[in-house]
Amino acid sequence: MQFQKEAVKRRNLNVAKRDIENLLSQGYRVHLRGTEIILNPEYLSLFPLAGQAYLQTNGALLHLNQSFFLKLKDAGLHTIILTYPIDPEGIVDMSERVIQDVIGTGSVEGFRIVVNIIITKSIMKLLEQDAAYFRGICDCPIDLGAHELRFVRLIPFSQELRRISPSLCETQTIIEESFQLEADYKGKFDITRAGQMGGFDLRRDLKHRYLGVSVPPPNESHIMDCPAGAKLFVVDLDNLVYPCLYLRNASWAIGTFAEGRIVLKKGAHVPGALHAIDCPAYIEQYNYKFPV
Ligand code: SF4
Repeated sequence: MQFQKEAVKRRNLNVAKRDIENLLSQGYRVHLRGTEIILNPEYLSLFPLAGQAYLQTNGALLHLNQSFFLKLKDAGLHTIILTYPIDPEGIVDMSERVIQDVIGTGSVEGFRIVVNIIITKSIMKLLEQDAAYFRGICDCPIDLGAHELRFVRLIPFSQELRRISPSLCETQTIIEESFQLEADYKGKFDITRAGQMGGFDLRRDLKHRYLGVSVPPPNESHIMDCPAGAKLFVVDLDNLVYPCLYLRNASWAIGTFAEGRIVLKKGAHVPGALHAIDCPAYIEQYNYKFPV
């Protein structure tokens, strides 16, 4: 559920509380998403209600005002997710020093610190020049006190993002690299991939190869590769329902949220599939046509 888009545009706090209670009573799990929550710390009261113990932030406000760490603790949060600005083209507009301080303080304060690394073409080039490049990326947050590193692939929504985002083939290299690291760091540091880091069959194969974990294919396990619109629903501020955070233009609206209920349109196109090739939001940007 989106509670906020900008500092000025947000869901009424009491309405949000009622909506969360309604969704929980119908058996949904609720995840809160929105612009920097600490801008309006009163919204932290929604987190214990939704049972959400993690927060995604760019770290700037935590760095400026360390009393926010206490506010997060009071709201029952135990995980902070930060994006680390390592890309040479500087796609994350944040000082490395700020993030490093927040990782250090957050881990000392007892938070689980998850560090997102955004994968771009320029990182791919560095990897080609230096095979140990990813290992260096892991060692840096470990040394600072982080607990988990996630590889994140941006959805290339714009020309600019398409220019810096890795191709489908380059993505496969990153996934393989991240599984190797996961096996090497097992028990010392968690390495994961964020939701849109797809290539689902490849991920199953690599999990088996590097970690010895067999994951049955979705038609046997009935665990969906992509849950968008089938098990995952995004309630936006205008109460339209979308299948995924990354599929939110008008053509993807699959229903409405009214009187506390998600009502789906008949015949709405649902991208979620038991067996998906890769993240639908990602490959849509490369004009891939889905098999019908
Ligand atoms: S479209 Fe599916 S796989 Fe991609 S981010 Fe959304 S839920 Fe995840």
